[in-house]
Amino acid sequence: MQSLINHLLQLQELVLILDEHRATGDGSHLERLAHDVEALSDGLPVPTRDFVRRLLKNDHIFIAPMYNGACAICGMRLPIGMIQSVRQAHDLQSDDLHTCPSCARILYEASESAHWTGVTHSRTEPRKMGIARFSSQTLMIPNMKAAKRDDAIIELANAMQDAKFVDDASKLVSAAIERENILSTGMENGLAFPHVRGVEGGGLTLALGTSRKGIAFDPEHKANIVCFLAIPTAVSAFYLRLVAGLSDSFGKAQNRASLLAANDQDSLWKALVKATRYSVK
Ligand SMILES: [Zn+2]
Repeated sequence: MQSLINHLLQLQELVLILDEHRATGDGSHLERLAHDVEALSDGLPVPTRDFVRRLLKNDHIFIAPMYNGACAICGMRLPIGMIQSVRQAHDLQSDDLHTCPSCARILYEASESAHWTGVTHSRTEPRKMGIARFSSQTLMIPNMKAAKRDDAIIELANAMQDAKFVDDASKLVSAAIERENILSTGMENGLAFPHVRGVEGGGLTLALGTSRKGIAFDPEHKANIVCFLAIPTAVSAFYLRLVAGLSDSFGKAQNRASLLAANDQDSLWKALVKATRYSVK
């Protein structure tokens, strides 16, 4: 039997995919997604379903990963007893739900996800601006080897691990492919935004790859620019603004051309910084 937490996580992901599709998609899957959200909520035990519906009225994130003994969404440090109960519920696959004493979201132990391991910047360093807050030259892959979606995701996830931003590329890959199988992130203008939510421990991270010949991303889309994002759950809403900003920048043919012309990490990074100067603050 599927555990209640897994059921809730699936529902959470679908609610956020529906938000993504509203913000950045073409609207063609709204009905199907809304129907799936309803079907999944209807399958919950009635008290849980009603509780989740109440939480959803305040915020679309109703289930919070516990990370380092704290609620990863509001940051509240949890009492030791509660940390143990949340862990036990996970180990025993029990249906006991625990909620954050501060933000009331349902807590779960996120033991199977990849984690952010990037370097936190010291206070003495100047604050980074624009796209440099989420990415770096080491996360650029000009002329990707991949010809297909999954290989592109593997290449970008490995770049994130090699540049020491995440601890486990293989977990990122399987989560990103699972996400694509619900709804492709391939878009018009040769863009794709594969991503993984629930990568806790730090900030949002973007790895970017280009392919002049194009990567077969889904039956309708060939991608020339692939943006792969690892997203902490707490910034899911910000992530939507970032993707909107990026697709706005890359909607301009001259920006796409300058990214695709880059043959090394340095020039790709410079082209990205220039292209996103106004769209990513
Ligand atoms: Zn909380």
